[in-house]
Amino acid sequence: MELKNKRILVVGMGRSGLAAARFLRLRGAQVTISDARSAAALANEIPALVEAGIMVEAGGHGLLTFRRQDLIVVSPGVPLDTPELVQSRAFGLPIIGELELAAHFLRGSILAITGSNGKTTTTTLVGEILAASGAPTHVGGNIGVPVVELIDVATPQSWSVLEVSSFQLETVLHFHPQIAVILNITPDHLDRHGTFENYALAKERIFHAQTVEDSLILNAENPRAAACAERASSTIWWFSLIRPVARGAWVADERIHFRTAPDTPIETVLPVAEIPLKGAHNVENVLAAVCAARLAGVPAAIIAQVVRGFRAVEHRIEFVARHNGVEYYNDSKATNVDAAAKAIAAFPAGVHLILGGKDKNSTYSDLEPLLRERVRAVYTIGAAAAKIESQLRGILPLHSCETLPNAVAAASAAALPGEIVLLSPACSSFDQFTNYEERGRLFKRTVHQLTSLAAIGNATSGALAETVR
Ligand code: ADP
Repeated sequence: MELKNKRILVVGMGRSGLAAARFLRLRGAQVTISDARSAAALANEIPALVEAGIMVEAGGHGLLTFRRQDLIVVSPGVPLDTPELVQSRAFGLPIIGELELAAHFLRGSILAITGSNGKTTTTTLVGEILAASGAPTHVGGNIGVPVVELIDVATPQSWSVLEVSSFQLETVLHFHPQIAVILNITPDHLDRHGTFENYALAKERIFHAQTVEDSLILNAENPRAAACAERASSTIWWFSLIRPVARGAWVADERIHFRTAPDTPIETVLPVAEIPLKGAHNVENVLAAVCAARLAGVPAAIIAQVVRGFRAVEHRIEFVARHNGVEYYNDSKATNVDAAAKAIAAFPAGVHLILGGKDKNSTYSDLEPLLRERVRAVYTIGAAAAKIESQLRGILPLHSCETLPNAVAAASAAALPGEIVLLSPACSSFDQFTNYEERGRLFKRTVHQLTSLAAIGNATSGALAETVR
């Protein structure tokens, strides 16, 4: 892809948009970056961009800006059906994302992971396993480091381990991972993709450029992910929580196994009990990681060693504190119904569940069987509260708390020793927070305040008791 002197518009000044603009400018393109936010809101970014010779358009997008370009690079947060993009497409302008841009320049092997849930956990784990094996490894994508930032560090011998989202995959053509993983496809982002099938089709673009030389790893127990086997030209590998697979990784006799073909010896990688993460869904993440890492050439012993030492990524069923016999868990990253379901299923019973945030056109009543079985009460917060309450009314006690601190206070007042307070909100955070990290941090802070206040309270009442004596 020739970039020199090309007129390129980058839409969206998020982390990947900024990285794309800088990369394009360094390669000699005439770059404009545009964002709907005002110049005042972008004051921190603009001087450095202008210094680098990048033109900046803040406070909305001019149609003319769009028309004068040779190429448009859209950030993952920007829907492809905005009027400007629809018109640009009608004018025949190519529209791609940062992942597709990077795909033209990234050297070495690519191991890409997508799925509705489990991407960050699995990507982090695979990255750690590959690095432990001594392979030059770089982790990036949706997980934080934009893929264009890996272009300068990747070499023909290195592995780029990439977390890729449906928004990033929507515009790829040349993105060609040697190993691709689809962990699961369950309803999410229906507000953006319109239908479940459109969303699934975006995920399928992960294997669009793959051939039989490449590997596609699929979850045998997730129907929509498994259906990809019929639609890909790739060599298919499977993972399954419940039964042996012809080639891939599975659980039997409480242990994780791997084989490359039905007639090859079975390797036993490690006992499930040695996985330090909570929940069956995390066993699935480990199965996918085992399969991917074996295909990348890592010996089973190294995989087992890294898995044993792996800790939950922050905001993913993260243990926060134990107070008065009640355990508090932060699962702020559960931004859809299936993720919340998996978190609830990780606890046998006695869960006080905080749900709510910004709705994504989700169906919360899908949680009913798990709520009846394991959850004592639901504490709702945020913009989706009324919808959640209307769908769950009559199933279990509901408490409208509006804010997260209120919900923590109410749940902790109600929880008995041995029970769990779980933030696993099934919604995105954008109604009350900048992102799920901010929501998770507020949860942790509130829990710690509560427990330290109680400690001060205990100390004070102890002191009082002494004085009385
Ligand atoms: P993603 O990056 O896809 O959002 P994460 O690894 O950050 O995935 O996990 C997000 C949440 O999804 C977790 O907090 C957990 O509740 C849930 N989750 C993790 N792995 C899985 C899985 N394999 N299947 C279903 N839910 C999962």
